[in-house]
Amino acid sequence: MAKNKDDSKPPAYDLAENVAPAEDVAESFLGFRSWTWDRKLMRLRSPQQSGTVWQPGRDEHAVCPGGKHEAAAAGCSCGIYAAYEVLTAAPYTKVGNCFGLVWGFGDTFPGDTGFRSSYARLAAIFRLAPEVSVDASQLRRLAKLYGVPLLTPHSAVISDYQIMLRFGMTDVDAELAELLRDENGRDENGKDRKQEGDGGR
Ligand SMILES: [Zn+2]
Repeated sequence: MAKNKDDSKPPAYDLAENVAPAEDVAESFLGFRSWTWDRKLMRLRSPQQSGTVWQPGRDEHAVCPGGKHEAAAAGCSCGIYAAYEVLTAAPYTKVGNCFGLVWGFGDTFPGDTGFRSSYARLAAIFRLAPEVSVDASQLRRLAKLYGVPLLTPHSAVISDYQIMLRFGMTDVDAELAELLRDENGRDENGKDRKQEGDGGR
């Protein structure tokens, strides 16, 4: 009963485990979603309470909360969620969260505002203001850690990013990010900042 109701669940509603990357995700959906940045673990987590940890260099494989079948399945709410509309995922932006893009592949169930799929792969992280994300240096660090481009959001239309990512048009951003990092590295204290480590004990 009311099987389709579950498709309205927010993009954060999922459980997942890390699996080895699939070779080909050509037939995949692209969607917006967000994560919590776990500063202690230095990992992204799904923003719901049980926060699945997303490991760098791994794909996420959805797990059905009921555990009765392989996720994602028809007539259930399981799967890794992502949104077509930036506004659907936007409520999850806040201090300490990250906003970005994922490829969804495997069994994928499109809904009105997004999709849920059995597998997901981080595709990009957005460079957002610290008021709705984490600070810029942290964003650079985590994009590098996860091996994805740090993009300046230029559109609310998901297909614009699809083209960009498909054709590898993200190098410009990577170069820009490098430049910004150099600049910020000096700007923080007005000069090069020595990291901790040579303080002695
Ligand atoms: Zn299920």
